[in-house]
Amino acid sequence: MQQSDHASHQHYALCHQCDIMCELPPIEQAHQAVCPRCHTKLARELTNMRRDTVIYSSCALIMLLLSASFVFIHIKVIGIIDNLRLLSIPTILYEYQYPSLMVLFLLFTLILPICVLIIQLILCSPIRLSKYHKRNLLIAYGKLEHWCMPEIFMAGVLVSFVKLTSYGEIGVDKAFWSFALFIFFYLKSSIDFSPRKFWNEIASNNFIKTNLLSGKTGMSQNIRLCLHCHAMLPAELTHCPRCKCKGTLRQKNSIQWTIALLMTSLMFYLPANIYGIMNTVFLSAESSSTILDGVIYMWQEGDYPVALVIFSASVTIPILKILALSWLCYFVLVTRKKNKDDCLQMNRLYNIVEFIGRWSMIDIFVVSVISALIRNKEMMSVYPDIGAIFFASVVVITMIASQKYDPRLIWDKN
Ligand SMILES: [Zn+2]
Ligand SMILES: [Zn+2]
Repeated sequence: MQQSDHASHQHYALCHQCDIMCELPPIEQAHQAVCPRCHTKLARELTNMRRDTVIYSSCALIMLLLSASFVFIHIKVIGIIDNLRLLSIPTILYEYQYPSLMVLFLLFTLILPICVLIIQLILCSPIRLSKYHKRNLLIAYGKLEHWCMPEIFMAGVLVSFVKLTSYGEIGVDKAFWSFALFIFFYLKSSIDFSPRKFWNEIASNNFIKTNLLSGKTGMSQNIRLCLHCHAMLPAELTHCPRCKCKGTLRQKNSIQWTIALLMTSLMFYLPANIYGIMNTVFLSAESSSTILDGVIYMWQEGDYPVALVIFSASVTIPILKILALSWLCYFVLVTRKKNKDDCLQMNRLYNIVEFIGRWSMIDIFVVSVISALIRNKEMMSVYPDIGAIFFASVVVITMIASQKYDPRLIWDKN
């Protein structure tokens, strides 16, 4: 255990996953500091962060603009070529009376990633910003980043290719390649961008007037972490002086919120699997297919990898996520004697749930792409079905549930 003097509080970090106080060593270029207890990443050092982020985010925006200007993919059915542009997908979803799917598509794959990239660009560019504007941009960034899913949309497009081969000949066009490059630059710029640096420019993380003890929890030292800007604050301070956001020692009613949201998502999970998610009209005969029908069809056709991807993303991941979060709530509420290994396992489980949960959205993107492409009115058309809305709700609600769960409760002694 080591003690700090007041002047060097910047070299301390309170782990946001397990609440342990860590003293940060000098970090070398391109290296990162991890929490010794739960192995969560605490800080990184990138000397060219501003320059790299400006380059990557501008490239990403240019690529996205290009991918919106050209044909994305095409399908050739009995000699007739149907082209699909990226922006036709939301228009078609709206025409099919599915505005909710249109909104999800626009938000998750286009609007939010554009906002996130513009925020990164503004913050890293030489534009002089007031503290007030910087603060608002950083808070918006923290809230939006989690909901950007362009890479999941791309995976959905690839899966729909396999499904579409039974309808006709699929080809990719210019916009497809620019969208792939957009994802590359988008991921690169998100990995390089570090909000911590900008928060420290607004005000240094020096709000505690006592010595910090590394190796002890924040709670035992009466210190809380601001979850928005990662400032270390006295536990009784409700408003963070750096980001002006409200907060408490632990997220308020975290377990109650998580359980309530899990129960809601379970109510949606059943209809999501019972009702069809896709409607196929072939020579005016209509048939609806559920998620499982799709998996069975793919399996029978011999597309085993795709059948497995859809089965795990759409059937197993949502239910496993609900079970895992329930287990995490049970662990916090019931377990009395917590040993370090159990806590570490639970922490790992939480990280997996956080990472993997959003990938369930893949099936919604598959349905969107297929119904946008197969719309030959006389011969065959594919529409989204009501199950798709239930399914999208399950994914969104479980994502909120895992955000409401406060992983520091895993480590707290009962
Ligand atoms: Zn930790
Ligand atoms: Zn704050």
